[in-house]
Amino acid sequence: MTNIKREDISKIQMVDLHTQYLNIKEDVDKGIQEVIHSCAFINGPAVKSFAEELAIYNKVKHTVPCANGTDALQVAMMAVGLQPGDEVLVPVHTYVATAEVIALLQLTPVFVDVDSDLFTIDVSQIESKITPKTKAIVPVHLYGQCADMESIMQLSKKHNLFVIEDTAQAIGADYTFSDGTIKKAGTIGHIGCTSFFPSKNLGCYGDGGAMLINDDELAKKAKMIASHGQSIKYHHDIIGCNSRLDTIQAAILRVKLPHLDQYNSNRRRVAKKYDDSFKDIMQLQTPKLAVYSTHVYHQYTLKVEGVNRDELKEKLQEKGVPSMIYYPVPLHFQKAYSLSEFGKGSFPVTEHLSDVVLSLPIHTEMEEKQQNYIIQSILESINE
Ligand SMILES: *Cc1c(COP(=O)(O)O)cnc(C)c1O
Repeated sequence: MTNIKREDISKIQMVDLHTQYLNIKEDVDKGIQEVIHSCAFINGPAVKSFAEELAIYNKVKHTVPCANGTDALQVAMMAVGLQPGDEVLVPVHTYVATAEVIALLQLTPVFVDVDSDLFTIDVSQIESKITPKTKAIVPVHLYGQCADMESIMQLSKKHNLFVIEDTAQAIGADYTFSDGTIKKAGTIGHIGCTSFFPSKNLGCYGDGGAMLINDDELAKKAKMIASHGQSIKYHHDIIGCNSRLDTIQAAILRVKLPHLDQYNSNRRRVAKKYDDSFKDIMQLQTPKLAVYSTHVYHQYTLKVEGVNRDELKEKLQEKGVPSMIYYPVPLHFQKAYSLSEFGKGSFPVTEHLSDVVLSLPIHTEMEEKQQNYIIQSILESINE
């Protein structure tokens, strides 16, 4: 590879939402204008159309749009009827939202460590955490790859647990069961929760979220809860909340959904190039693939071993290459969720990961030249 200079490439970003927009500008602008002219800002026709199209894409019976991914998790937990004091199993290496809604509903989050190579919940540790109070488990398909859902569904049947999938990072990923059946991420458990935060694989231009649900009754209940507990206007049968997907966001998502598979394959192409470039570099462990899931690379996350991760991150920054740490502080060390029993070593894999993970820029519009520069900068930095 010839030496690439920083001046010769356009600015590198973790995600390039602007270039992506320019490529679909005409359709997006038209969709937004239609909503504005119709003035159907709340629950306009685009919301219903998008919900139907999203259900078709995911081969799921119902989708219930809502205001964001965090709300999706909250409404899902309310819809399955979890009660204060119920215990909910959740991976300790995840974004805070997953645990936050559990705590908000006065449920008890019970942390489980993750697999050190796949970054998803370690299913071998789940059963020992189950008590008579355990009512649900929330697997998180972290970075874009599904957790071991076949094992999780078996445990759910054996112990009568609800399974609420957090698929905010994995929309579009496919899960293959041992009998060959393939299902979309988020459609395997009782409810799948996703987010349309702008940087997610299917992102809108503000906040948005949805639940994926096969069960008719659960879907009806989730829909009611997200709409003030009503199924008929001004008749409030249960306590709910106000969580809606804006019509403008739905119009944007309708334009982007048909591109999702292409977006995900662009991400896979970028990931493959990183994989190939780093495969012989001892200090960098490239993401491992689970046999049962495709990867949609919401993040491309390395484990940096043998060189200091934070120093590498700084050197990259100096060369104009951004990188991120997802997540720098494990949940059990967060002030809001720490308990006296959680000393150092409580969740050794997660604690180690918080010291070594590093996510590189990956997005749908990455130019080859940019990626070559990123790779060159990383190789230079670890050898400096
Ligand atoms: C983004 C994300 C959420 C929250 O989604 P919001 O739309 O920002 O509320 C929840 N869980 C995970 C794993 C996420 O990545």
